[in-house]
Amino acid sequence: MARDERSVTPQSEDFSAWYNDVVFRAELVDRGPVRGSMVIRPYGYRIWELLQADLDRRIKETGHQNAYFPLLIPQSYMEREAEHVEGFAPELFTVTRAGGKELDEPLVIRPTSETIIGEMMAKWISSHRDLPLLLNQWGNVLRWEMRPRMFLRTSEFLWQEGHTAHATAADATAETMLALGFYQDVAVQVAAMATVPGEKTPRERFAGAERTFTIEGMMRDGRALQAGTSHFMGTNFAAAFGITYTSEGGTAEFCHTTSWGMSTRMVGGLIMTHGDDKGLVLPPAVAPYQVVIVPIGRDEQAETTLAAAKDLAAALRRAGIRTHVDDRPQLSPGFKFNDWEMRGVPIRLEIGPRDLAAGTALMSRRLGYPQSGAAKEAIPLDLAPDLLAAELAAFQAQLAQRAADFRADHTAVVNSWPEFAAAVASGWALALQCGEQACEDEIKAETTATPRCIPLEGEAEQGRCIRCGKPSAYGKRVIFARAY
Ligand SMILES: [Zn+2]
Repeated sequence: MARDERSVTPQSEDFSAWYNDVVFRAELVDRGPVRGSMVIRPYGYRIWELLQADLDRRIKETGHQNAYFPLLIPQSYMEREAEHVEGFAPELFTVTRAGGKELDEPLVIRPTSETIIGEMMAKWISSHRDLPLLLNQWGNVLRWEMRPRMFLRTSEFLWQEGHTAHATAADATAETMLALGFYQDVAVQVAAMATVPGEKTPRERFAGAERTFTIEGMMRDGRALQAGTSHFMGTNFAAAFGITYTSEGGTAEFCHTTSWGMSTRMVGGLIMTHGDDKGLVLPPAVAPYQVVIVPIGRDEQAETTLAAAKDLAAALRRAGIRTHVDDRPQLSPGFKFNDWEMRGVPIRLEIGPRDLAAGTALMSRRLGYPQSGAAKEAIPLDLAPDLLAAELAAFQAQLAQRAADFRADHTAVVNSWPEFAAAVASGWALALQCGEQACEDEIKAETTATPRCIPLEGEAEQGRCIRCGKPSAYGKRVIFARAY
């Protein structure tokens, strides 16, 4: 059977084809000319801007300041922290020529900015009175990507990177957890995801970090997606870059530093958390259009309903609701309904001549009306701003609850290898594990699952490794899953 041009591959048939259909047909992205590059189109960029605005507010409210550091970094900077250079070497873009000549020292395009910011911190910090230094940068980074996927893995991506320096390990640890809290709050409250905050196991740590924390979200195919990370560097970067301060007692001490980032990957995460077989489903907090109004009618009636749609849109905008009127004359209402459904708009309103005469509009929710089973509901035009504000809040809450229920339904506490294998085939396994690399490798080879995090909220527990039977590590159960 030929599939409608506008429809998307069902998730159950091929989740990754579904994802590609959605990101291109909803006009979120296009392919760039260079392998692994991504053009973010206006509809996709607006989602990012809305996430960004919320996160930026949280960052500033807690005393951090935005700054901007150069894209090009001397190669020697990258080499100062041994683990850092080793971790990033395979992904680096290096510039060897400029101005028509070979450069004396190659330059790398930042894959992350610890090194250049570390260099500046060393210059700017001298006394304990200069601490803490709380910086954030919004920008782009480049990391060579072998298997690119839009939003999830692209060679260039947008993000913020927080970089802070503190007098004590305790202060830097508190900062690491504060930033993790930003990400968890943005993910849950704004993106309506059901992310789990936790600590990475040693092997999954950021290159050069002493401890790495993450939020992990569950996608609708049961895989995990790392949606934000926060790193406690100890004094590793301070030692490599000479970030020191004079203490109150007059001694020279190394600072303790942190870094933390959230990227455009988050857009991919919310797509795969909420989308369904009809396409995107957008949480109202990040929807470029929260409400789309489709005026219906021919000839003179069309003029009347279009004018009414514009008046309604103006009233909704005054109430702070992002509203769009679809006045494309060449397209049928049916086409428009399908189009906005595929593009994930939370609420659609239709206004036809009969609705207008009755002083109403017909409202459809992107996920239908689960209680009544009705497809549409008439709402009075004069009450529309208040009704829709309430409806959008309810829709946001419904998505968050649905994501939390989905995660709970697809997470299993497992105590045997067969249970483990079954759990990670369709979701997450909470398991005890020995923490040894060879054992992790075996688990990965057999199931493709890897340790995602040790949940912060997990209860203390000891026992035998799910795979090899040796005593368990970490003192808690670990989330294992197949991951993006
Ligand atoms: Zn083991």
